[in-house]
Amino acid sequence: MPLPNKEQNQPSSSPSPSASKKGKLYIVGIGPGSVEQLTVHAKNVILNADYILGNDTYLDQIESLITTQNVYRSSMGQEVDRAKEAVKMAENHVAVMVSGGDANVYGMAGIVIEVAERNHLDVDIEVVPGVTAMLAGASVLGAPIVTDAATISLSDLLTPWEVIEKRLDLASQADFIISLYNPKSRQRTSNFERAIEIIKRHKPAHVPVGLVKNALRGDEQEFIVTTLGDVLNYNDWVDMRTAIIICNSDSRIWKSPHGDKIITPRGYQKKYEY
Ligand code: SAH
Repeated sequence: MPLPNKEQNQPSSSPSPSASKKGKLYIVGIGPGSVEQLTVHAKNVILNADYILGNDTYLDQIESLITTQNVYRSSMGQEVDRAKEAVKMAENHVAVMVSGGDANVYGMAGIVIEVAERNHLDVDIEVVPGVTAMLAGASVLGAPIVTDAATISLSDLLTPWEVIEKRLDLASQADFIISLYNPKSRQRTSNFERAIEIIKRHKPAHVPVGLVKNALRGDEQEFIVTTLGDVLNYNDWVDMRTAIIICNSDSRIWKSPHGDKIITPRGYQKKYEY
């Protein structure tokens, strides 16, 4: 039996400026959108980079950390070119590819590593995790997850819609808590409604649903707590900056002193008194 690899995938200590002589590529999850939510390691990596690559939205979110680093901006939809540029830069420089939330959750980790693999490049790559939208949204809503959950992106740009439908169908049949990403874009306005109709086939109408827009982005944050039966009343409110958490049949709305939030009991009530 092969021995487990202890060396790879261990986070390095944060780089010092002198590390810039040696090439390395960091793929950094920058969290939900405010610098306070970055991990300490992510922040240090960004501060010590030679080059930072990203789209306008992500670069704007970390603007206060950009001083002497060179910046390579590209637009949304140009992820492949950006990934190619990043692996090239990392031959001789410390390059940081920023990705919103976590880079493994519909983020840049995949395409960057695929490009490096396909071109047989010997690049030192480290993926730095970040707080993903599902967890940022959950923190705003109270305790809506706490047990088994599935994340499903409603973007059919890279995944065929039939596959998305199947995942929605089976995840709701199994009563997973479902976190929806990419509910809408300018071109795709009906996917959210279609997804809810599929989930309604299996989950009861009383299941709580949390909609969180701009989670953990300061004053821009807004949220709505509703139910699966009523969520389409808020269809127009949902946009591409919204994370959605559709709970399970045990979840309930928590009448908190600060408004309605959500609790999903994990099962302690069956074993303990409190
Ligand atoms: N890698 C990112 C997700 C990219 S997909 C992550 O880990 O969070 C983009 C989708 O994520 C958006 O359409 C939205 O559904 C969700 N999202 C990202 N940041 C968000 C935030 N701060 N608040 C609410 N939803 C967010």
